Amino acid sequence: MKFVDEYRDRATVETLTTAIRSAVSRPWTIMEICGGQTHAIVKHGIDRLLPEEITLVHGPGCPVCVTSVELIDRAVAIAARKGVIFTSFGDMLRVPGSSRDLLGVKATGGDVRIVYSPLDAVALAAKNPDRSVVFFAVGFETTAPANAMAAVQARKLGLTNFFLLTAHVLVPPAIAAILGSPSNRVQAFLAAGHVCTVMGYEEYLPLAERFRTPIVVTGFEPVDILHGILLAVRQLEEGRADVENQYARVVRREGNAGARAVIAQVFEPSDRTWRGIGTIPMSGYRLRPAFASMDAEQHFDVGHLEARESPLCIAGSVLQGIRKPHECPAFGRECTPERPLGAPMVSSEGACAAYYRYGALNHGR
Ligand code: SF4
Repeated sequence: MKFVDEYRDRATVETLTTAIRSAVSRPWTIMEICGGQTHAIVKHGIDRLLPEEITLVHGPGCPVCVTSVELIDRAVAIAARKGVIFTSFGDMLRVPGSSRDLLGVKATGGDVRIVYSPLDAVALAAKNPDRSVVFFAVGFETTAPANAMAAVQARKLGLTNFFLLTAHVLVPPAIAAILGSPSNRVQAFLAAGHVCTVMGYEEYLPLAERFRTPIVVTGFEPVDILHGILLAVRQLEEGRADVENQYARVVRREGNAGARAVIAQVFEPSDRTWRGIGTIPMSGYRLRPAFASMDAEQHFDVGHLEARESPLCIAGSVLQGIRKPHECPAFGRECTPERPLGAPMVSSEGACAAYYRYGALNHGR
């Protein structure tokens, strides 16, 4: 198989759906980690193809959604500073902080710019030596290599006006936190294929063993997702808890050595607060001491920030798979993509936005 169409082929979808029906004998709850997988599931109605024994729940794999309100407030405070050019991917601009978002800063005269690569921000810093250029480094392990490359490039160019506001989050500690929670109901995971493209999947082996939970590295097309579910169901039915690689056409066990090396050069693991979930130990990246002069949090002292979230938003439960977006009382009422109360309604990978966009109000599972 070489082309995307082949991964959306109706006959293959039917074959896989039939195989899942034959394999399943009792109820199972499976979580897809990645927001891209969530959108594919809702967009293509994959959950409605499954036997009623299978419940899919959506995980915290939308980095925009899990960036803490405190960090959004810090971004807003830095972006509002005179002399700062604040750069970010577009999704982050409308994520609500305690009182306003980055778009609000832009509307009141702040120099907030959308970029398409962190290297664009480095180029801006080179062109504007009298300004401070900050890049909002948001993302899972997938985006970390490009952000690390930007830091290396800025260092190579001798720039002292380039900074990273680092909001990186890591998948394996999030899986451990979900499985370790007393309210957990997840029995198997579809791991995010693109994260494993960078990091490989060796980190998942001790998790599967410790929690006796199958983990299947899975791609993003309907055929990939159904195949990942089939592999997970077979493991559950057979009482196995292995790590399997459905996305073998892209993912290698050891990942991408070059990408991992540049991450390790620039970043080190650190505790991270996840929006709506709380602090998960060693679940993020921070800049290593050798790159600390680029740390926007250190350079721009914005003092103590008191973060406040909408009391209506249940994003924490949605992101942990405890509740579905349409079970939020504010869904489609007080909270819409035009007037979002929480990040999952903003991001292109957010579960609430997916349910709203694809009209999945009747998704009962
Ligand atoms: S629908 Fe809106 S308010 Fe409800 S959980 Fe999603 S983002 Fe939060």
